[in-house]
Amino acid sequence: MTSTVDGGRARSRRAENTDFVCGHCSTLVPANTDGHYRNHCPWCLWSLHVDELPGDRASDCRALMEPVGLVEKSGKGWQVVHRCTRCGHRQPNRLVRDGAAPDDLDLVLALPWL
Ligand SMILES: [Zn+2]
Ligand SMILES: [Zn+2]
Repeated sequence: MTSTVDGGRARSRRAENTDFVCGHCSTLVPANTDGHYRNHCPWCLWSLHVDELPGDRASDCRALMEPVGLVEKSGKGWQVVHRCTRCGHRQPNRLVRDGAAPDDLDLVLALPWL
């Protein structure tokens, strides 16, 4: 029933809020419970380059993204800036402050302000 001529790109690109295993510290990261999807590990803050724009899952890079600093955005509060270890793409991401596994605040506060 499935098409074989889609080049393997048939997977949904909707933003998904699911468990994932951190590619940096190998810890199982539970899905977010605060209504936003999670895109980085709460314990080491590393992320994966899967988005071109936040939540779109449009990137094929899939390399690890290192947390390099903090920015404050009006209306959005603090955001951690991730830099891709392969292509250098930079992306600010909202911190997870509530729910089952909030971001490690000590690690967050150890980051430099950009
Ligand atoms: Zn991690
Ligand atoms: Zn990348």
